[in-house]
Amino acid sequence: MDVAIVGSGPNGLAAAVLMARAGLSVRVFEAADRLGGGLRSMPLFDGEVVHDVCSAVHPMAVAAPFFRRFDLEARGVELPSPAVSYAHPLDGGAGIAYRDLEETCERLGQDGARWRRLMAPLARRSTQLIDFFFSDQRRLPRDPVATLLLGLRTLQHGTALSRHAFCGRQAPALLAGVAAHSVGRLPSLPGGAVSLLLGHLAHTCGWPVPRGGSQRIADAMVADIERHGGTLHPGTPVTELAELGRARAVLLDVSPSVFVRIAGRLLPPHYRRQLATFRYGPAAAKVDFLVSEPIPWADPAVGQAGTVHLGGEQAEVFATETGVSRGRYPDEPFVLLAQPAVADPGRAREGKWPVWAYCHLPNGDPTDPTDLIQARIERFAPGFGDTVLARHGVPAPAMEAYNPNYVGGDIGAGAVNLRQTFLRPTPRWDPHSTPLGGVYLCSASTPPGPGVHGMSGYFAAVSALRREFGIRDLPELGPAR
Ligand SMILES: Cc1cc2nc3c(=O)[nH]c(=O)nc-3n(C[C@H](O)[C@H](O)[C@H](O)COP(=O)(O)OP(=O)(O)OC[C@H]3O[C@@H](n4cnc5c(N)ncnc54)[C@H](O)[C@@H]3O)c2cc1C
Repeated sequence: MDVAIVGSGPNGLAAAVLMARAGLSVRVFEAADRLGGGLRSMPLFDGEVVHDVCSAVHPMAVAAPFFRRFDLEARGVELPSPAVSYAHPLDGGAGIAYRDLEETCERLGQDGARWRRLMAPLARRSTQLIDFFFSDQRRLPRDPVATLLLGLRTLQHGTALSRHAFCGRQAPALLAGVAAHSVGRLPSLPGGAVSLLLGHLAHTCGWPVPRGGSQRIADAMVADIERHGGTLHPGTPVTELAELGRARAVLLDVSPSVFVRIAGRLLPPHYRRQLATFRYGPAAAKVDFLVSEPIPWADPAVGQAGTVHLGGEQAEVFATETGVSRGRYPDEPFVLLAQPAVADPGRAREGKWPVWAYCHLPNGDPTDPTDLIQARIERFAPGFGDTVLARHGVPAPAMEAYNPNYVGGDIGAGAVNLRQTFLRPTPRWDPHSTPLGGVYLCSASTPPGPGVHGMSGYFAAVSALRREFGIRDLPELGPAR
């Protein structure tokens, strides 16, 4: 075996795709019985309706450089985008981010022109912006204009200036809801950058959901690996590096704490100390609902959105998220909800609809979020409780039990703060390499961080191909014609 990969999340699979296509013999070892990591979907309640266990909404699986070249759609993975990318209910009328930028601006009234000035230039240079954002962050940007556009806007929307960027209530709430995907203190520069990245994608590729569930993305990657001779081994937890025999390269789709467990005393003390300073962020505590009809939102436009942010006005989102990042339990947590059947009606079966929602709580908090989240939804969708046929809460510790990378329920596999945006997981020029010869980290704990984009796996594989095998010409990633 040339290459052993531990973990079959999108990053482990992206690394395996690249290395198998480079002609190496690749084996992927996955602890869980099902492949895919954060891409797993399955029926949870009645055997018919498919629920996404982790990720559900995939702008990055369309836009990120790895997936642009891998081309999911050409492999039969349909990625329909709803007409409304995301909505943010407020008392007195929701903020609505239509895929269509002009429709969004029209609904925002007096803030419409400001929203257009913010998003339109980013949308025009989207590819260059994405390439910079999803780079290995160790080279000068290829398009300095795109980088400057992003940088200046981040200074405005990732700092206290963001409180004065708009004059109405809806536009700042919309942007704050997207910034909250960074799961940490707000406003912050990383949160601002995330809001602009995901925010402008809402008006370009949209926020799509894979038809049939996120598992379809993993299945397409697995098929490609097998077609190129790789093998995958679910139900095979790796507890020690020594179990991987004589692989010339080992790529670990694991968080630093799992790395320390399986590498043990092999790691030099200074590197162990650096890994010990790696910080995990707040938790996501999730609820899966099976409901008898679409959610009865007070504002019907919210029913057209694939994703809904329940967090109140900008000031409330900032205060709640900052409190949670400091370990304070929120009275009303920020809730992120996905209603995938809006874009993929086939997900609803015989009057049963899947709904996915999680809230942010302090890291490791053991609270079952079910009632908390249901109450938050009811506030903007009175009568929601009457539609619930079944529900299942996943508190933060259960999230970690499901996937050891989500330490304390941190689904980003590490806090997204300024230091850990660039020095993730430790300060190294090649952040995917480790002091152990031939051993690389390729999980979301490495740049460019969390989300289903495959780029951490891609960069780790590029580094390993060059250093261990002397391969500099990278293979094509597209489907066979
Ligand atoms: C509830 C939830 C909702 C999310 N929503 C979205 C979303 O809508 N859009 C989005 O882009 N992202 C979303 N994310 C984040 C996204 O899923 C992750 O950022 C992404 O999956 C990280 O990919 P990865 O390959 O680094 O790791 P993971 O997907 O976490 O995969 C790591 C794999 O390694 C395996 N593993 C760990 N240790 C071992 C071991 N010792 N031996 C063998 N196997 C091991 C694990 O079982 C797991 O399968 C969500 C995550 C969660 C939990």
